[in-house]
This record gives sequence, structure tokens and C-alpha cells, in this order.
Amino acid sequence: MDTEALTAWIREFARLIAANKDELTALDSAIGDGDHGTNMDRGLTAVVSVLDAEPQETPSALFKKVGMTLISKVGGASGPLYGTAFLRMAAAAGDEVDLAKVLRAALDGVIARGKAEPGDKTMIDALAPAVDALAAGQSIQAAADAAAKGRDATIPLVARKGRASYLGERSAGHADPGATSVTLLLTAAATTLGG
Ligand code: ADP
Ligand code: MG
Ligand code: MG
Repeated sequence: MDTEALTAWIREFARLIAANKDELTALDSAIGDGDHGTNMDRGLTAVVSVLDAEPQETPSALFKKVGMTLISKVGGASGPLYGTAFLRMAAAAGDEVDLAKVLRAALDGVIARGKAEPGDKTMIDALAPAVDALAAGQSIQAAADAAAKGRDATIPLVARKGRASYLGERSAGHADPGATSVTLLLTAAATTLGG
């Protein structure tokens, strides 16, 4: 998993975010303030511009650049959370990236920052099952499938963190936007880093 492959992963994530921007915004309109699609697309568009201008030399530098750019461009709850995730991935990446290890670090960072637990209807509900699948030695495609399953499992949940929690019981019946964008991150990994 070299820097070139990892850069392709981030670019594919950016492409999927752009392609699913309206869906992410619709999900966030149902249980939040309707900006998750535009927030994420603004951030990933900036990431792609930065990588076009300054190709990164190491996995660690790549993840750090992505994290810093997301923190400065995304805003809201998801900007600092995704930013922290990528900064933790930068710290966990060695010369050879172990996806299970770096995504575990990302998950720990999101939990440390946002204090959410599994079942709170957040991005953790997609990220944690994907990390568990990788830790169990399953393929990246299996991890992406686990993320999608975790995303779908957020539909009946009542949100306990973030803006959606303000809705109380009315947050049930919709997938969490952040769990949906995290699933795109894993889907992009499966296509670019090998199933
Ligand atoms: P905002 O809610 O500030 O408008 P976004 O709409 O971009 O930010 O992101 C909303 C997403 O952020 C939610 O769908 C949820 O997945 C995630 N989120 C919010 N708070 C937390 C938290 N404390 N921990 C983990 N994820 C969170
Ligand atoms: Mg929002
Ligand atoms: Mg917002």
C-alpha cells in the first residue's frame, strides 16, 4: 500500500462524495441541518486541489495533509472529526501502511474527539464494524460491506450525539449522514486498494 495507491483512495473518496453529495445533504436535511453533502464536498474538493498542486511523498504526509485540509475546509461536527481521523492515521502510518491499524487509529481518534459510542447513530456505527472486519483478517470489500451494514443499522436508531440528537425520537427512520459518508470512504478503499 504505497503513497500512490493511498492517494488514489483519497481521490476516489472525493469522487464518491461529489457523486453522492445530494444524497448526503438529503439525509442531513432529514435529521440535521442539511449541510453534510456540501461540507464534505467542499473539503474533498480542496483536498484534491492540494494533492494536484503538491503530490505527497509518504503515507504519513498524505494523511496529514488530508486531515489538515478537512479541518480547515469542512467545518461543522464532521470537519474536526474527519480531520482528527486522518491526523491519527498519519501518526499510525509507517513506511508500509496496515489499513486495519490506521483505521483503528482513526476510530480511536473519532471516539476521543466526539465521545460517541456505538449505537449513538454517528459515523462510528459504520467505521467500527469496518475496523473489526479488517482486524479479523477480512478483505477490504468485506470491511466496506460491514460499514454499509452499520450505516443501514443506524436507520431505526435514535441519535444521541450531534445535531440529530436534538430531534430525539424523530431522528429515528433515517440513516445517519456521517455513517453514510464513512461507508463511501470504505467503498473507495475497496475499489482502489484491492478487494
Ligand atoms: P453538523 O452536524 O455540524 O452540521 P455535518 O452535517 O457535516 O456537521 O456532520 C454530521 C455528522 O457528524 C453526523 O451525521 C454524525 O455522523 C457525525 N457526528 C456528529 N457528532 C458526532 C460525534 N460526537 N461523534 C461522532 N460523529 C459525530
Ligand atoms: Mg449538518
Ligand atoms: Mg452544520
